[in-house]
Amino acid sequence: MKPLSTITVSSDLPDVLAPLRELALNLRWTWRRQTVDLFRSLDPRAFVASGENPIAMLSLVPAGRLAEASRDEAFLTRMRSEVGDLRTYLDSGRWFQRTVPGAQGGGDGTSVAYFSMEFGITPTLPIYSGGLGILAGDHLKSASDLGVPLVAVGLLYQWGYFSQSLDRSGWQQEEYRLNDPSQLPVEPVRGADGEQLTVAVTLPGAREVAIAVWTAQVGRVPLLLLDTNVEVNDEQDRQITDRLYGGDHEHRILQEIVLGIGGVRAVEAYSALGGAPAPSVFHLNEGHAGFSGLERVGRRMQAGTGFSEAVAEVRAGTVFTTHTPVPAGIDRFDAAQLRGHLDADGSGLSRLIPSLPVEAALALGIEEGGDVFNMAQLGFRIAQRSNGVAKLHGAVSRAMFQDLYPGFDVPEVPIGSVTNGVHRRTWTSDHMDDLYTKALGDVDISSLSDWSALSTLTDHELTETRDALRAELVTMARRHVRDSWLRRGAVEAELAWTDHILDPHALTIGFARRVSTYKRLTLMLSDPERLQRILLDQTRPVQIVVAGKSHPADRPGKEFLQQLVQFADDHGVRHRIVFLPDYDIRMASVLIAGSDVWLNNPVRPEEASGTSGMKAVLNGGLTFSVSDGWWDELKDDDAGWTIPTADVEDQVHRDAVEAEALYEILEQSIVPLFYERDARGMQRGWMTKVRSSLVTVAPQITAARMVRDYVTDLYLPAARAASAFTADPARAGEFTAWRAEVQDAWSAVSIQHVSLEGARGAAASTGDELTLVADVELGRLRDTDVLIEAVLGEIGAGDEIIEPQLIPLQRGEDGRWAARFALAAPGEVGFTVRITPQHPVLASRAELGLVVTA
Ligand SMILES: *Cc1c(COP(=O)(O)O)cnc(C)c1O
Repeated sequence: MKPLSTITVSSDLPDVLAPLRELALNLRWTWRRQTVDLFRSLDPRAFVASGENPIAMLSLVPAGRLAEASRDEAFLTRMRSEVGDLRTYLDSGRWFQRTVPGAQGGGDGTSVAYFSMEFGITPTLPIYSGGLGILAGDHLKSASDLGVPLVAVGLLYQWGYFSQSLDRSGWQQEEYRLNDPSQLPVEPVRGADGEQLTVAVTLPGAREVAIAVWTAQVGRVPLLLLDTNVEVNDEQDRQITDRLYGGDHEHRILQEIVLGIGGVRAVEAYSALGGAPAPSVFHLNEGHAGFSGLERVGRRMQAGTGFSEAVAEVRAGTVFTTHTPVPAGIDRFDAAQLRGHLDADGSGLSRLIPSLPVEAALALGIEEGGDVFNMAQLGFRIAQRSNGVAKLHGAVSRAMFQDLYPGFDVPEVPIGSVTNGVHRRTWTSDHMDDLYTKALGDVDISSLSDWSALSTLTDHELTETRDALRAELVTMARRHVRDSWLRRGAVEAELAWTDHILDPHALTIGFARRVSTYKRLTLMLSDPERLQRILLDQTRPVQIVVAGKSHPADRPGKEFLQQLVQFADDHGVRHRIVFLPDYDIRMASVLIAGSDVWLNNPVRPEEASGTSGMKAVLNGGLTFSVSDGWWDELKDDDAGWTIPTADVEDQVHRDAVEAEALYEILEQSIVPLFYERDARGMQRGWMTKVRSSLVTVAPQITAARMVRDYVTDLYLPAARAASAFTADPARAGEFTAWRAEVQDAWSAVSIQHVSLEGARGAAASTGDELTLVADVELGRLRDTDVLIEAVLGEIGAGDEIIEPQLIPLQRGEDGRWAARFALAAPGEVGFTVRITPQHPVLASRAELGLVVTA
């Protein structure tokens, strides 16, 4: 990105205040309120005028005030204390160093490059649109808190994601704001020559596109941001990183080339400069950065490795996270278009990625039929380890991608799950954070998984906090509703009513997230009269605060939004239901924290995880949700309410049934419980539920838990797998030769006969010792090339063995294969025998797609 101004802010800052710049440039301030307070106290007006942006504010503070502050001992002491705290935070050993063997003395070799199309860290760095980006931002913050060696890669967009307003009729209006790098918490990465580091990619026609590299520092984690808006590029190429999710497929492919291919080159250059260790694990947060895998294959081939060997090596160190449970959510490109970009020379090698054989590379992502290149498929092919973002989403993904693993049942498709989480400190209000500190002590909560001490919080403490958070929400909502009406054409004089909307003591339901159809913003409007009655109840009123942007191209989403706005405008309920335009991180933190109940009613199972409900839990809000995403695995009647899913195909019918359940639970359970008071006026039943949610649910939905899971389940195994290849240069060759041999010999593998000994016909008692015996033909393969297993378990509806138990068969002296076991539980048990390839490089049985079943 080209700076608009050459004035550097630091020159204005008296030397003694230089540490302010250090504090402003490390985004750790976004989760350290003392640092925020320091900036605010420097000049409250400038702080607000800058949009609470420390970097931008430093250029707004009048020189007189700076001079004053530089003589203010109390201010200087606080500033030094914050700098000291930051440096201690950056230097001290943390969870990773304490837990991972070998990490203490500078590293066990594991380090991670994390790629994402968007990062939601702070509104002052507007390079995100919604949940995916905020998840990525929370991942970085928690990786920093836990000391996980990680460098992140994203794009620095010239335009932030749009800001939203409404027209008179409630139709969404979009406006884009230019990002000025001098006002952003980013700095150029400087090369050895002192100039800003650039890397390049070559597009067809020998068009060299220069990519400038910036860095934003997120605690310990450097986030490299790539930007094509540099002078040497032609006008068209300067627009590649213009905005997030704008433009057509061509534009998206170019962005993904910059992110994936440019990203690998940027990480390498940054490591060479000593900025971060060279990563051993590459984590692709969604498929957008899939080309990074091709680039890494190309690199190895340039050094003389064959294609298959290079793919095996790259796979070992790659982790792919899929985020969508619906096929429409996946990036799918015209294969011919992508072929054009890879731009084969006369010998079929790519000009974009030197040495990469274009057709072999395309084959990794081309769907059956040959016309479409699928970025998720590339992700699964280029990453040996992959996951969905909640248990249910893992299961849905296994079904969705079963075709990639022919012959295997859905449960064996090698896609696991790591349930999303949210960064606790970012998403916990200051009020609530005080309660955490009081109950848990002044400890590093990110590495603490037992939060049971939160049960000591009293009704009184919780009530005070919840009342304060609700009051903050009401104040914010009044301001936003008023501003929104001014933009919609109303004049001040007619807006006095906005000072009285919402009630700081009424049951407050929050609903805010991207407005896409599957999230069903308007489910609550299914029976408008009934909703109206609920809202307007004299003694037990309910109020609803709604926010969310619709993607500019999503017409149905905008229609939902308009329906909601018109309902709020027209039904005598404008004081009980409000829509707040321009949802973003800052609004989210107040809106979510202030809601007593967080409503989530997507079409199950289309919500991969959802994270806003987690933020509510951290603040003592209660969950009211369809059994989808994260709530499907953590739902708990003591901690919230679950809207039952109607098992009917017809969506209209389904909406009607689920809406009925929503109203019913609201009227019969939620409202009565909220307004029930004991003799002291306390909401005893309600607060019991809040405590239960805090103790049992909250510790499971933090990004710290999520990142620890990624480290343990994915990063460390991937790092070990990758280093096994590095340590043994022959390993890849041996593995691919073995694989070719197995693939070639597989047709001769068969199971000829299976018998169960020790049973009486088809009957046995629990505890009977049974022996399963199989006669197996392996053709040219050796015993060690295969895994022969008994598969046994209960028979499900489709005559399938469900949740099978796998017991390996051993070859006996008579040459037959056998396993002995006893069955513990009574019932009908199905069994069979199957053979899969076995090799230390393989991480799952399904990986080669080869299986023989009796
Ligand atoms: C948390 C958050 C989201 C994601 O919400 P979901 O419940 O996952 O849909 C989107 N936007 C903002 C601003 C958020 O803070």
